[in-house]
Amino acid sequence: MKKPVVLKLGGSVITDKSREFTPNLTNISRLAKEIYRSGLNSLVLVHGGGSYGHPLAFKYGFSGEGVEERRVEGVSEIHLAMSRLNNIVTEEMIKAGVKAVGVHPSSCIVARSGKIELFEDEPIKGMLRCGLIPILFGDVVFDLERRFTIISGDQIVSTLAVKLNSPQIIIGTDVDGLYTRDPKLYPDAKLIRFIRLSELEEIRESIGESTVTDVTMGMYGKVNELLPAIERGVTVKVINATVPDRLFKALKNMEVLGTVIVRG
Ligand code: ADP
Repeated sequence: MKKPVVLKLGGSVITDKSREFTPNLTNISRLAKEIYRSGLNSLVLVHGGGSYGHPLAFKYGFSGEGVEERRVEGVSEIHLAMSRLNNIVTEEMIKAGVKAVGVHPSSCIVARSGKIELFEDEPIKGMLRCGLIPILFGDVVFDLERRFTIISGDQIVSTLAVKLNSPQIIIGTDVDGLYTRDPKLYPDAKLIRFIRLSELEEIRESIGESTVTDVTMGMYGKVNELLPAIERGVTVKVINATVPDRLFKALKNMEVLGTVIVRG
């Protein structure tokens, strides 16, 4: 099996985060075409929840110290909403010619205290061997300590990249990369083009949370979830997937505006 690239498309890219259950079809179908055009067939895609996942996750107490019973009540609704978004993304991929197959994380992952403990990846490996492109998503999964927990797309990306020996993770979000501070709050924030893990550790606290209400804690949460993969030598590229052609260039390993994070 050729080592796959693991691609994350953020909820900020594929949904309208300010309107509940609203997909951004323009972005999804453009990105599907960019993936098709890249010709890359060893690829796993993971998408976020955006306005399909986060409002419901808040409603049922998945942020902070939620009550377990309340969380269990939300499982069906949250998983259904995320599956619908997964269907939309998968359908747009297929329309563009990408051999996509939706994969539900709640059926192949078990967590412990919010972290992935078991991940049955044989179906994903099998799909990759056949040239198919699995599409997973941030999902609500069974947790051995908390009954149910939300596992972010970023944590899935990180775990998968390690399990599949991926050389590279591409994170598609709605800003040009990792900045010194949240660029939406601080116009003087500077884009970091290249950073080593040791330097990242130093600035981790100051890089801040997402401006949009988000149970996965924006860029800070994202970087924390990606650390295990970076520590094992996976290169992470953060790009703005709302800008046409950036994803295409990243997939083709061409020069592209963004942030490269390496173990170093
Ligand atoms: P996604 O939905 O794409 O996974 P999030 O909304 O969770 O993304 O996180 C991306 C957001 O994080 C950006 O829109 C940005 O406003 C915010 N953010 C906070 N701190 C930073 C930072 N240091 N660099 C880049 N973005 C940051």
